[in-house]
Amino acid sequence: MFLRRTLWRRGLRSEAQLRELLRRGLSSASPSPSPSLPPFDHQPRPYKGMLADEVLEKRKKFLGPSLFYYYQKPLNIVEGKMQYLYDETGKRYLDAFAGIVTVSCGHCHPDVVNAVVEQSQLLQHTTTIYLHHAIVEFAEALASKMPGNLKVVYFVNSGTEANELAMLMARIYTGNLGMIALRNAYHGGSAGTIGLTGLQTWKYPIPQGEIHHVMNPDPYRGVFGSDAARYAKEVEDHIDYGTSGNVAGFIAETFQGVGGAVELAPGYLKLVYDIVRKTGGVCIADEVQSGFGRTGSHYWGFETQGVIPDIVTMAKGIGNGLPLGAVVTTPEIASVMSKRIQFNTFGGNPVCSAGGLAVLKALDKEKRQAHCADVGSQLIDRLRTLQQKHDIIGDVRGRGLMLGVELVSDKDKTPAKAEAAVLFEKLKDLGVLVGKGGLHGNVFRIKPPMCFTKQDADFLVDALDYAIWRL
Ligand code: PMP
Repeated sequence: MFLRRTLWRRGLRSEAQLRELLRRGLSSASPSPSPSLPPFDHQPRPYKGMLADEVLEKRKKFLGPSLFYYYQKPLNIVEGKMQYLYDETGKRYLDAFAGIVTVSCGHCHPDVVNAVVEQSQLLQHTTTIYLHHAIVEFAEALASKMPGNLKVVYFVNSGTEANELAMLMARIYTGNLGMIALRNAYHGGSAGTIGLTGLQTWKYPIPQGEIHHVMNPDPYRGVFGSDAARYAKEVEDHIDYGTSGNVAGFIAETFQGVGGAVELAPGYLKLVYDIVRKTGGVCIADEVQSGFGRTGSHYWGFETQGVIPDIVTMAKGIGNGLPLGAVVTTPEIASVMSKRIQFNTFGGNPVCSAGGLAVLKALDKEKRQAHCADVGSQLIDRLRTLQQKHDIIGDVRGRGLMLGVELVSDKDKTPAKAEAAVLFEKLKDLGVLVGKGGLHGNVFRIKPPMCFTKQDADFLVDALDYAIWRL
């Protein structure tokens, strides 16, 4: 089994070929010496705090056991600067996962830090029962980024809350209950959004409410490949046969994040939005991971499919690490929500609003969307070249700095779960932190802070190449 996989991984056709390669020394065919991190002008502060073993011990004692951590020996990360992180020993890592796609303009970006500190020194909290300029300035700036009539902003504290509110809006506005979501989606961890999520690893066995999971239009693994029309027909059939015929709404990430950087088949959203709207439902785009220019070609993920949703949810990158989320919708949908009070104590608080506005401005000032397109295209090209070299790389996908590398152990696309786990550790040892995704954890998610450079991209690919050769 091992031999067969090794042969396949190295693109060798026979045992004799492998023996010959071993005779010459595998390392002679592999890149060496080990790649080094690009230079970076930052000196981390000496760290005198609690060390990893103690943190882990206390975490086990005082935090819930459902929390998981990366790496056999988890990292104690104590400092961050732009696209780099530092552990307790001062070792530097290239952060290619951005705190789960959350650090957008860069770790401790000075403009965001300044805005938060200045606002914290003046006024931290009052709630929306009084007026404050920060929330309206931020809402106006955010609305200016939205297409169509998406002009009314609700601030919340997380992606889960944003999707919870969006689902509520869809149900209140339409008077229908049924929600359509995609298999392989992640939309949050609250009782309602667990229902929307389509990955069993994240779902507790509780009643889901009226939620229907339709086939995932996944070009790599989906049964219809990239044929958007056939997946859309499935949605139509599902509504006809599996619901009362009227649904409250449809929700999707255009680029599935937790599900392993899966970009929906081109043209799918346009077809499905039409179908859903005909039944009286509204369309929700979950931009928690793909928004704010990360995909390079567009500011929002849904724009890559040429649609305008009725409700857009966002979090993560909006705050560069601040607990912040938002829902943006049309005045028409918002007016129906005013039948009751919709209130959120911390939503739009002065500190997060000031920070969020600073994030938007920094992304604009530093032209991060164009940067993501530029760096991302080099990165994806290099990853595709690497794919030619290593059969274990089954798929390279995504756009901008929202990429996925799917590892498989044979031609049947069997998820290379064990190999992925080994490579993941090796990459960390080489100084690269990537994410893992997909139901089987066999997809590397590369979604760094958007200030990630071409030198960083080269280093990442060289490290991956080096690690695969030594698998
Ligand atoms: N939607 C998507 C697409 C996400 O990736 C996540 C978080 N991984 C959420 C919603 C939930 O966000 P949060 O963890 O902030 O509640």
